[in-house]
Amino acid sequence: MILDIVKYGHPVLRQRGARIETITPEIKKLITDMFATMEENHGVGLAAQQVGIAKQLTVIDVRGVTDRPSTLELEGQPADVAEIMPLVLINPEVKPVGEAVKGPEGCLSFPEIFGDINRPESVDVKALDAKGKPIAFRCGGLLARAVQHETDHLNGILFIDRMDKKTKQELQPELDELAAQTKASLKK
Ligand code: ZN
Repeated sequence: MILDIVKYGHPVLRQRGARIETITPEIKKLITDMFATMEENHGVGLAAQQVGIAKQLTVIDVRGVTDRPSTLELEGQPADVAEIMPLVLINPEVKPVGEAVKGPEGCLSFPEIFGDINRPESVDVKALDAKGKPIAFRCGGLLARAVQHETDHLNGILFIDRMDKKTKQELQPELDELAAQTKASLKK
C-alpha cells in the first residue's frame, strides 16, 4: 500500500522515534508499505516519521542512483553495496568516520527543495534488520549520506537543520510556504 508522505510543518517530523523491541506483523507490513511508498516517489530513503509514525525504522535503497557512488565494508572487507540492498535499519546507531564532505540533498518531506549539506564521508552503522537480527557495516558515499539523513529523521532532525545559514536563509520563503500549506491541510 502506498502511504501518504508527511510534509515539513507536520509535528511528527520533529518527534524522536520509539525503539522497536519486536518485529510484529504490523512492523512487517509497515516495512513493505514504506518500500512501496519510497519507490513510488523515487526516493533513496524513507523514515517512519515521514509516513506519520514516530518509530526507529528506516528503509533505504541506493541501487537506482548511478551517478553518485556508494561504498560498503563488511567485517573490514570491501563488499558489493547491492549485497545489503534493499536495506532496513531498525534502532540504528551511526558513528562518523573521517572528514565531512559537502553534497546535495533533498527530502521527500520537502518537495522541490534541495541544498548542500556537510556530513562525514563514511559511517559505521549498527542496527537490526527486518528480521530483528543485528547487522553492522561501514559505508561511504551516497549510502553514508542516506543513512545519516534517515537516522536524523528518526531523531526528529531534518536536513534543513544541517544547512549552512546562507543556504537556509535563501530557502526560508519556500520553507515557510511549505510549512503553512502543511498546517492548513492538517486543520481540514
Ligand atoms: Zn528526508
